[in-house]
This record gives sequence, C-alpha cells and structure tokens, in this order.
Amino acid sequence: MFYAEPIYRPPSEAYSLLIQATVGCSSAAAGRCYFCTSYIFDRKVPEKRFRIRPTEEILEDIEIAKEAHGDRVDKIFLLDSNAMIIKTGELLKILEKCYEAFPALKQVSCYACCGDILRKSDAELRELRQAGLKLVFVGVESGDQEVLDLMNKGATVQDQIDSVKKANMAGIQTSVTVILGLGGRRLWRQHATRTGKAAGQMNPTFFSALTLMVVPNSPLDAMVKKGEFELVTDPVEVLKELHLMIRNIDGPGPIVFRTNHASNYLPLRGTLPGDKESLLQTIQAALDNPDLLRPESMRGL
Ligand code: SF4
Repeated sequence: MFYAEPIYRPPSEAYSLLIQATVGCSSAAAGRCYFCTSYIFDRKVPEKRFRIRPTEEILEDIEIAKEAHGDRVDKIFLLDSNAMIIKTGELLKILEKCYEAFPALKQVSCYACCGDILRKSDAELRELRQAGLKLVFVGVESGDQEVLDLMNKGATVQDQIDSVKKANMAGIQTSVTVILGLGGRRLWRQHATRTGKAAGQMNPTFFSALTLMVVPNSPLDAMVKKGEFELVTDPVEVLKELHLMIRNIDGPGPIVFRTNHASNYLPLRGTLPGDKESLLQTIQAALDNPDLLRPESMRGL
C-alpha cells in the first residue's frame, strides 16, 4: 500500500486502517497556518507536497488492505490533512469500496478544512453521511479572528462555525480541535474567551484542546525569534487559558471534551455542559498544585 511518510492521524484513530486518499494539505500548499508541520513538509519534502491521489489508486490500496486485514477492519481514516477536499462523486466511490471490502466496517472519517465542508451542498453532505462518512475532524485552532489572521489560517471564525454546524446538520459527527497558546501572551485572553464562545455555537460532537509546540523553521518560529510573537511558556498560564475557555463554552451539548493529546500539560475528559464545573475544579486543583502537570520534557511524547 502507498503511504507518503510521515503521516498524521488523530489520536482516536490509532487502531483504524489508514488509507492515503490525499497527500499533504491544501491549506499548507496555499501558505496557510504558520504554526503547522504541513507548511514545512509542503516546501521541504517533495513526497509530501499536496495532491489528491487518483481514485483508481486509492481503490487498489483498499483491495490490497482487504487481502491483508479482511474482517478485522472496523474503522478507516482517510489520510492526509484534508481528504474532504476530494470531489463528492469520487469520495462516494471510495466510501462504497471501503464498505464493500470490509464487512465489519462501522465508520470512515477524515480531516476537513472548513472550506471543504462549505463548498459541498447540504445534499452532498447527507449523501456522504449515508455512504458511511460518519466523522470529520476540523482544526479550528481559535475562535478569535485576530489570532486566525496572525497565523494566516485563511478562514473566518464565522466560516469555521458555519462549517461545523453544516456537517452536524447533515448527521456527520464533528471533532473540533483548538490550540492553547496560539494567541501568545498578547492575545491569550481573547483567544480563550472567543474560542470557548465559538465552541458553544458550533456544538461539535467532540472538542479537543492541544497545546502549542513551535515547529522549528516554521513561520511562527521566525516570528518568535524576531520577537513578534511572545510564547506562553508557563504551564500555569496555559491552564488559566484552558479554564477561561471552558468557562465560556455554553453549547447545548452533549460535547465530549478532551485534552488527551500528548502536547497537553493536563489530560482531561468530560462531557459538556454536564461536566463543566468538575472540569473547572480539576483545572483549579492543578493550578493550586502544579506538580500534577505533565513535565515539559514529556510533552509531545
Ligand atoms: S489546515 Fe491543518 S494540516 Fe493544513 S496547514 Fe492548516 S493546520 Fe496544518
């Protein structure tokens, strides 16, 4: 099977069959997202330059995986960073082949940029859901426009909110990630407050917070070195940001909230709005006793 290494998948897809449907990320190719590894790969690793693989090649890979894994596959994740960009007709062929090849298959998922979702009609999204695309992962990063613009995300907060709501409406589950620390020391307060509010409006199925780690040689790295971006380096400050963010989430729910990514100082899990107070209390306990936090040397491992 073809893989353009290195590949990335959400932590929750650790046991899924990975099918390389696209390579790289269209946003990275457009020079977006100054904090992201894909930005570097698109420029420095020719094999990782963004492209959509021909459908025939993807279908051949599914056939090879069928021979190797047969009945054992119950989840598939379509690589790389935004397989949702694939035209609906081609995605439908891929989904059909997946469910035909693996009788125990229960779910196919992929990453999506908000524009990939917004470009599809409601009817197309419903068709994809009926064909078995059950979950999309959307990197929203921040609910604050100033932070999105600073990082050249190439999306408006409203587009991000609309895209998640549109997928929800089509019956596709949504998993939204945001990045603690992305506003730096200057914008942390508005980043936390507005990201929490945006999360409430999106009301995604899953909501996760990562913590910023600066990718060497990325545009963000250059901004830090030039003094244009001041990092939030104190874990206690990061937790204050998380506390403020959660306080501002007022969606109807249920939203499964997680900070189980290796980049985080404090792993949390709960369902909002019911667990809001207990999550806030857990964060407060860690603020009162920072020894509970993951050491800096263990982050990202
Ligand atoms: S859309 Fe996601 S994967 Fe693509 S460049 Fe932006 S942050 Fe990276």
